[in-house]
Amino acid sequence: MVGAGAVALMGTSTALTGVAKATTSIQIDWCWCTLCSCLFWAGNNRESTAPCPWALGYHNAGETLYQMPINYPGSGSPSDPSSFGIQAEWSWCSACSALFWGPGVNNSHCAGTGTTHNRGGTNYGMYFGTASTGTDAQGGWDWCSLCQELFWGNGDNAAGCCYGNYDPSNPNAGEGIGYGPHLPGSSTDYVMHYTS
Ligand SMILES: [Zn+2]
Ligand SMILES: [Zn+2]
Ligand SMILES: [Zn+2]
Repeated sequence: MVGAGAVALMGTSTALTGVAKATTSIQIDWCWCTLCSCLFWAGNNRESTAPCPWALGYHNAGETLYQMPINYPGSGSPSDPSSFGIQAEWSWCSACSALFWGPGVNNSHCAGTGTTHNRGGTNYGMYFGTASTGTDAQGGWDWCSLCQELFWGNGDNAAGCCYGNYDPSNPNAGEGIGYGPHLPGSSTDYVMHYTS
């Protein structure tokens, strides 16, 4: 994958075993939110309609456009720092438009619903491991164990978690008061690929 990045993986998977496989694809229009640090899908005007936990407004897209693989099987070992590959089962929330770890939905926190994220049916794959990082990619993305979202923190906390330091007695507290930092839940370094 070095140098070739996601492009080398594009295409339609072939059913070699006779068992039908889901069609793979690449989805564009994913952005980093400059306010809450999450990765969110900005298509369909979601930048103006998807709730952001920061100051109770909407997400604000950075300039960079990212791409997300759909229906790719998992590969590599996310807990091994020397490994790289794809971790499947990441999900999109139809309420806040953020990407989050699908299997963690019951422990998630969403600025759009006030409870857990809405898990869409699409199976997104997250690249991990800096060994896979070429010029078309960016490491430093993390999984938040509080809200389950992917966020850019470069291995550290980053502002904008809808659950960090949340004060139930003051649910409408604004920027920097009711909403604290995301918390990296693992040492896995996730990698986003740019849209060329
Ligand atoms: Zn946001
Ligand atoms: Zn959500
Ligand atoms: Zn968080």
